[in-house]
Amino acid sequence: MRTIVCVEPGVLESQQFEKPTPKAGEVLVKIRSIGICGTDIHAYGGNQPYFEYPRVLGHELAGTVESVGDGVELAIDSPVYIIPYLSCGECVACKKGKPNCCTNIEVVGVHRDGGMCEYLCVPESAVVVAEGLAFNDMALIECLAIGAHSVRRAQITEDDKVLVLGAGPIGIGALQFAKVQGAQCMIADVRDDKRKFCEEQYNVATVDALGDVGAQLSDLTEGEMPSVIIDCTGNVKAMESAFYNLAHGGRIVFVSVVKASVAFDDPEFHKRETTLLGSRNATKEDFEHVVACLRDGSVKSNAFVTHTAKFSELIDRFQTWVKPETGVIKAVVEMD
Ligand SMILES: [Zn+2]
Ligand SMILES: [Zn+2]
Repeated sequence: MRTIVCVEPGVLESQQFEKPTPKAGEVLVKIRSIGICGTDIHAYGGNQPYFEYPRVLGHELAGTVESVGDGVELAIDSPVYIIPYLSCGECVACKKGKPNCCTNIEVVGVHRDGGMCEYLCVPESAVVVAEGLAFNDMALIECLAIGAHSVRRAQITEDDKVLVLGAGPIGIGALQFAKVQGAQCMIADVRDDKRKFCEEQYNVATVDALGDVGAQLSDLTEGEMPSVIIDCTGNVKAMESAFYNLAHGGRIVFVSVVKASVAFDDPEFHKRETTLLGSRNATKEDFEHVVACLRDGSVKSNAFVTHTAKFSELIDRFQTWVKPETGVIKAVVEMD
């Protein structure tokens, strides 16, 4: 089968691999659509921490059941998406119902080979049947689930004024799920084109992150400031700004992960009685919420897909997508 391998940073290579056979408890998925994620771009660029090469990238995956191992009862050809976080089920986090931050987590396409190939074997628990959705939409469920998880972490309601920092795919996902909760939503970004995109597609107020952010937020919230700030920037300065732009009594959610220390002034933190939350990956409940929102149309998956390509074009196209001037928000690859 055709497989695209990231042999070292900056080098993708098309190779022939043997089609895998599912073992007991496993499912062989015929890959139909692959979402391209920031993680794939960072791994290709060589700046993803703890990443080993060669590696087959791709963890935002949709396809059909090709065959199953002993003990698996999924029907052949069922349309499925993959939950790419494989958890141990035994650690302290798993026992508390938080497999998304399992101490032994293995992410498909990160810690083990992923789905930039024709067939992928995964444990049955990682496969979810979802009828009636397009494969290209299903490939975006994981990306949307990250945003949905951050909104659930903050327990957002219609009384909240939510500021999302960073209008990338994760930020736009968080924005959409905050809107589903009925909150007043705002999104900040340094780029004009991304802010314009959000204003047009999602009818939300935007904040120029290079301008006077505090003044803009004060105007938008009648001086109250945002009650929730969700950071999806991967930028330390942006993360630190949240401590100073938050409403008193508010919550900060860090979806971003940066290889750095994040600092804040304790009196500023204390006077607001700030709640600071991490948000890592997503759980099955988040995935199910995403699917329900896609079905009822309250969230649009394809609105932020700016680029598509066929699998046979992937290597050429990928090299352009890593450049910011290409204007990629989200790219999806279809198997051909
Ligand atoms: Zn992803
Ligand atoms: Zn675990």
